[in-house]
Amino acid sequence: MGERVIPLVDLRTATLAVPSAATTAPTGTLLDARGRPLRDLRISVTDRCNFRCSYCMPKEVFEKTYTYLPHSALLSFEEITRLAERFVAHGVHKLRLTGGEPLLRKGIETLVAQLAALRTPQGEPLDITLTTNGSLLARKAEALKAAGLRRVTVSLDGLDDAVFREMNDVDFPVASVLAGIEAARAAGLGPIKVNMVVKRGTNEAQILPMARHFRGSGIVLRFIEFMDVGATNGWRMDEVLPSDEVLALLQSEFALVPLQASQTGETAQRWGYAGADGRHDPALGEVGFISSVTHAFCGDCNRARLSMDGKLFLCLFASQGYDLRALLRGGADDAALDGALAAIWQGRSDRYSELRASLPPDTGAGGPKRVEMSYIGG
Ligand code: SF4
Repeated sequence: MGERVIPLVDLRTATLAVPSAATTAPTGTLLDARGRPLRDLRISVTDRCNFRCSYCMPKEVFEKTYTYLPHSALLSFEEITRLAERFVAHGVHKLRLTGGEPLLRKGIETLVAQLAALRTPQGEPLDITLTTNGSLLARKAEALKAAGLRRVTVSLDGLDDAVFREMNDVDFPVASVLAGIEAARAAGLGPIKVNMVVKRGTNEAQILPMARHFRGSGIVLRFIEFMDVGATNGWRMDEVLPSDEVLALLQSEFALVPLQASQTGETAQRWGYAGADGRHDPALGEVGFISSVTHAFCGDCNRARLSMDGKLFLCLFASQGYDLRALLRGGADDAALDGALAAIWQGRSDRYSELRASLPPDTGAGGPKRVEMSYIGG
């Protein structure tokens, strides 16, 4: 194995100028330059996490001396809710809270309650969900449900306790995450999804045990290709286990049939477990594949990402974001925010995953660096 170069870059101060725009009153549908509507907003609420997964917050970088953002730099719950309301006016109907680890943000239930009170222009409640490492879920599931959270996605990369402890790199036991998943189920936070990042040579032996564990449980297991997000996770193509190989491995033990996407812009390709008649048996459930590396899904990507300090990113692999916090704290009224969001989204043409293979390799030196996943959520 070659030596890894982990470049140290801090992009949190770099911002793009918010384009000036004629006031654009929201119509509930906002299309980008490639005709993709804005539907999904991912809101990162903290840059902190209690895990040190090597593909996201490796210890070599996020060690004790790493400087996290001060609390004053974070958007307040009121600022997040005000921005979310403007996004919803432009057509967003799904909000996902991320981090870092979102359950580390103090009083997160209060934010969930504020967001749950928002309505689409048609008067519908929003689909509010949260991605978590599960470590605090057993403690928080009931309060989150009571506040208005609909469902959760839990990141879990293996069932073998030794492998899991090694992957989270803080010696956290897998049993506590499984207890969190059960608490979420008991609280009615469903359907629950479990996201497993698969890294060749690290946890591929966990694929079948994970599938056996969650098959027939009502929980949807999704396999995520190891991605080149950020600049610190030492990504290499030879550590990507393509989804097609994961599917073939599953098919060596289970009968699976392809399922339709449940909605436009869905990131996962769905496969259902088949019953004895060869047709999908809903009681056995389904699995998903998120294949950003080998099957890009930029064509209908409808996701925007808001960092904890108020920068708007138009792609998971973006290098810079638009500083909405400056607008908010500068006294922008709703019309000004609506116009800024419209101008930013209408100018969007990002499609990194489609272009990845044709881009020069990121050598860790020179050129703009992608922001870290722990900064804008996955
Ligand atoms: S690479 Fe960017 S544009 Fe493509 S699907 Fe991912 S977030 Fe969307």
